[in-house]
Amino acid sequence: MATNRTFTMIKPDAVQDNHIGGILQMIEEGGFRIVSLKKVQLTAERAGQFYEVHKERPFYGDLVKYMSSGPIVAAILEKDNAVADFRTLIGATNPAQAADGTIRKKYAKSIEANAVHGSDSDDNAQIEGDFYFAADEQF
Ligand code: UDP
Ligand code: MG
Repeated sequence: MATNRTFTMIKPDAVQDNHIGGILQMIEEGGFRIVSLKKVQLTAERAGQFYEVHKERPFYGDLVKYMSSGPIVAAILEKDNAVADFRTLIGATNPAQAADGTIRKKYAKSIEANAVHGSDSDDNAQIEGDFYFAADEQF
């Protein structure tokens, strides 16, 4: 059964280029409610853990370097059919293939610096949200 939450990050280039506001606006206008939100800088070790599933891929080393190169914004989002609808809103991994009206079409610079992350399953949405926010429950 599809749950109603997904997880996103605004990646370092988009943060550096002052697109936090523009991207959050597209997310809210896309019908998502922001449940949790924070700006953090990943160490290379933490970035490596987050993308562990890709560790055998040729782009892994560069991806870890990129994702720890500057602050990111992490958020848990809520909407019916959140995971699938958010993947539609962000567009294809490679911005050259991203559809008009998508976040990556508007803000991504390259297949690596592609502006945003979006979870690919309900299970990963839960795991990735916990990666950033589980320890915050004391607040
Ligand atoms: N990535 C990359 N080169 C590639 C494929 C992916 O640098 O050939 C990066 C890109 O930042 C992407 C991330 O690795 O967002 C994770 O890849 P995935 O295939 O999971 O794409 P996504 O789910 O983010 O669309
Ligand atoms: Mg992915």
